[in-house]
Amino acid sequence: MLNEFGLIQQYFNRPAPEGYLGVGDDCALFTPTPGWQLASSVDLLIEGQHFFPDVDPFLLGHKALAVNLSDLGAMGARPKACLLALSLPEIRPLWLEAFSNGLFQLADQAHCPLIGGDTTRSKQGVVISITVLGEVSAGQALQRSAAKPGDDIWLTGTLGAADIALRLLQGRLAADSERLAASRGALEQPWPPYRLGHALAGLAHAAIDVSDGLVQDLGHIAKASQCAAHLEWDALPVDSSLDGLPADLQREAVLVGGDVFQLCFTGAPQQRESIMALAQREGVLLSRIGSMQTGSGVYVRDQQGLHPAPAQGGFDHFGG
Ligand code: ADP
Ligand code: MG
Repeated sequence: MLNEFGLIQQYFNRPAPEGYLGVGDDCALFTPTPGWQLASSVDLLIEGQHFFPDVDPFLLGHKALAVNLSDLGAMGARPKACLLALSLPEIRPLWLEAFSNGLFQLADQAHCPLIGGDTTRSKQGVVISITVLGEVSAGQALQRSAAKPGDDIWLTGTLGAADIALRLLQGRLAADSERLAASRGALEQPWPPYRLGHALAGLAHAAIDVSDGLVQDLGHIAKASQCAAHLEWDALPVDSSLDGLPADLQREAVLVGGDVFQLCFTGAPQQRESIMALAQREGVLLSRIGSMQTGSGVYVRDQQGLHPAPAQGGFDHFGG
């Protein structure tokens, strides 16, 4: 039976890249790039609350890091390293093997080495917390408060799929295996456009990653920037896995559905061409979905006119 040290050694100790001191010491070490700011973020994933107990552990390892890379991208930062805190009720070798493979595959691709962590036994379910460290050239971070009236609002990827997959898996939507097959990748293996996020530093204005729902997250930009956000319903990229669903359900999934891990950002209209060129270079689907205006709040314009966006929704863990 593996103890804590054996477990770390077997599953989480891979050679750190040149210039890093990784797993094995009391602290990891690396040298920050001169003139760059350190960007850091941490996320907590709890079994039964943020993931299903029987989710594929390879995908879980991927997602645990992906949600953190999403935060770095939303700040305009590039990944530098990550740390993993893991609490497990028992040691399951196959689970650990798959989980660490999923994590390392994305970590390698993102040049975000795992340089340390902590491992403990938990009384209840699995708890996963990843801390990411990134860097952004000083003064170029994409802060939520940086949107200006007249800015375009941009969104990467599509909307609604993760929400529909979650409803299907929770039985809140009648079973439909074809629709589940089309949508569950968005929920279980998100690919946040973190490289585009970094490329936008110093070019875009405000940015946020859509984790709690478009309206809620864009609302954070609007509030921090003291502006209003006007969305164009027809410009919103509805995921094709929503085809054929009732219009009100599509609208809810698109506007308030969470777990999207795409990037919503604002930029000056003069930068449209440069922004589109960057997205094309990164192979990222990009839509211009509205504009920032004077005022406050989030609005949606459709054929009936301009309405306040549904205030309801957005995933609030402590909400009623
Ligand atoms: P300490 O008691 O000094 O906190 P630990 O015994 O917890 O150190 O960990 C030993 C080494 O293994 C440290 O370098 C730590 O960063 C690393 N480590 C522990 N758990 C993990 C993990 N789940 N993933 C990666 N590294 C880990
Ligand atoms: Mg420890």
